[in-house]
Amino acid sequence: PYQGMSKERLLDIRKHNCNPMTMKVTYYKKPVFINQGHMQWLWDVDGRRYLDLFAGVATVSVGHCNPKVTEAAEKQLRRLWHTTPIYVYPQIQEYAEKLVSLLPDPLKVVYFTNSGSEANDLAVLMARLHTGNFDAITLRGSYHGGSPQATGLMSNTHYKYPVPSSLGCHNTMCPDVFRGLWGGSHCRDSPVQTIRECSCSPGHCYANDMYIKELKEVFDTTVPSRIAAFFTEPIQGVGGAVQYPKNYLKETYQLVREKGGICIADEVQTGFGRTGSHFWGFEGHNVIPDMVTMAKGIANGIPMGAVVTTAEIARSFAKGVHFNTFGGNPLACAIASSVLDTIKEDKMQENSAELGTYLLTELAKLRDKYEIIGDVRGKGLQIGVEMVKDKASRTPLPQEAMNEIFEDTKDMGVLIGKGGLYGQTFRIKPPMCITKADADFFLSVFNQAVLNYTERR
Ligand code: PMP
Repeated sequence: PYQGMSKERLLDIRKHNCNPMTMKVTYYKKPVFINQGHMQWLWDVDGRRYLDLFAGVATVSVGHCNPKVTEAAEKQLRRLWHTTPIYVYPQIQEYAEKLVSLLPDPLKVVYFTNSGSEANDLAVLMARLHTGNFDAITLRGSYHGGSPQATGLMSNTHYKYPVPSSLGCHNTMCPDVFRGLWGGSHCRDSPVQTIRECSCSPGHCYANDMYIKELKEVFDTTVPSRIAAFFTEPIQGVGGAVQYPKNYLKETYQLVREKGGICIADEVQTGFGRTGSHFWGFEGHNVIPDMVTMAKGIANGIPMGAVVTTAEIARSFAKGVHFNTFGGNPLACAIASSVLDTIKEDKMQENSAELGTYLLTELAKLRDKYEIIGDVRGKGLQIGVEMVKDKASRTPLPQEAMNEIFEDTKDMGVLIGKGGLYGQTFRIKPPMCITKADADFFLSVFNQAVLNYTERR
């Protein structure tokens, strides 16, 4: 029993009283009962230790209960938890200044929220007010949040309800160079490449041209002549670490701006050094968005989100009064500030780059070894391993098979995630403090889980 409650009782309450269908109660056949965390480790109620490579979905950026962040939180808890942003308290200014110093010009004005969904809701509203247009375009397979507005933006059947969500949201094809129609194996910004041959000539990506043509078709057939916004995740998260051809964002940004729209980078998963080579995912695409939304890793698991935009867009937004009770509260700001310090002091972005590249390279060797590992991709510690029935058909590996490998990996002591439109992609997005020994442990566990599955067949 845990604090007087058996596991059966805990699950029973979850099934009947607490978001009953959460991840089909709850994620594993034998769910994990988490009790405690430290850095990249979690312990269950029986004292069993897990290497956490999912990090609350790329949220625990600098490690569970990171001692530096915990100390900052404790200090702030004793001083002031909450007042209201109507008053001036130092933490919000201190953090705002620190955060915008990490973004390129002209992205210098920040609004705080409490989640990624709220940040994206705010971003749509600001885009509409600024441009005077209404329609927003997002990529198929994208995830932008669970509010009615953000549900309209995102494109993932699993998270949709049969009720009207936000009006004026449209999708264009996701330029997925593995599962998409046109290949594009040498065109994405990753240490490893897909295995399909592509039709590109040097310096010129055929797939990219085709996906750009798709967007133009959306402009010609689906939306009004002027649009409000184009939303993209620099690497799709829930969609399964999907990466686009190298010039895709650069070219689409230009087209969107010609249509009067603003370009919004959803950095909820890719921000704060996760992609390793850059602090923000968009920097890897060589673009500067008009607005950046962020959450998750911003405060290492304490609810917080933000929208950063330009002074010009902020002026358009000043026509009304924007208020958010908890947004930018002193506790969240003190924690987020300490997260930024920790990423820098402990060289976590550098670690993301180094260990991400190592993991991707080693996982690509497993891809070449096993018929059911179709694709290995990503950047830094935002990694996807797409599983297939076989390499020729690329049919998604059925869920029963995915679940066997997933459960086995957990039983051997490693937590990873699942994603992709067909639940076919394992997702690796650990706290950015993992070590090479952790990476090696995971690689041997994952190898064993895939081997176990293939031997059972
Ligand atoms: N954008 C992206 C890219 C996300 O991955 C998520 C959450 N999975 C969100 C937005 C929504 O964030 P939240 O759950 O904090 O509302």
